[in-house]
Amino acid sequence: MIKVISFDGDMTLWDFEKVMRHSLSVTLAELRCHIPGQASAGLTVDRMIEIRNSAAVELKGKIINLEEIRFHAFKRTLESIGCPDNTLATHLNDLYLKHRFEDIELYPDVIPVLDILRSDFTIGLLSNGNGYPEKCGLPDRFSFVVFSQDVGVEKPDADMFHTVSRCAGCDPCEIMHIGDSLESDVAGANGVGAVSVWLNRDARLNKTGIVPDYEIRSLVELAELAYGCSI
Ligand SMILES: [Mg+2]
Repeated sequence: MIKVISFDGDMTLWDFEKVMRHSLSVTLAELRCHIPGQASAGLTVDRMIEIRNSAAVELKGKIINLEEIRFHAFKRTLESIGCPDNTLATHLNDLYLKHRFEDIELYPDVIPVLDILRSDFTIGLLSNGNGYPEKCGLPDRFSFVVFSQDVGVEKPDADMFHTVSRCAGCDPCEIMHIGDSLESDVAGANGVGAVSVWLNRDARLNKTGIVPDYEIRSLVELAELAYGCSI
């Protein structure tokens, strides 16, 4: 009997990749205003993503706050073009975060489905990212929000799902978790005996060996599934 429905954020409720690339483009243009010419000419959004990802790997266990990691990434980006400047890195980080939150677009199926489900289920966000609902167009929609940067581990770690149990006051087997990642969302939910739902918007092939309890193409399919599992 399902009582609680937890949602992944990035690529489940909103297209993080799109807003991240857009926000980096805006930030790169700002960087070029401050550092014109040869130094910044070769810098690209893809290179900035590489720098951010390697910073995240290097800082793992030392810094878990994602905004701080992003700041370090801008600091390293400036160092990489021979222009170290912490004040500019702070400015670029603020600009990036402004766009990263303000320009986010929810997938069109999100609000209608949350509004249907919230009257009969406890609804929450369970994310390895930092998509704060109030900054992402979803204020007052969730009864609980669990971020890996607060728990100290990431999905698929069982502690993430046990935190949901504690927040929602339910057993793991009463949770249905929906997400786009087989490795994080589906494997994590399966590991604690929750009901796993793989949101596969692009009809990708599953070559992982990780088997979801259910697979859906759109959140529209979720309402039927959730009510079917709660009878
Ligand atoms: Mg995701």
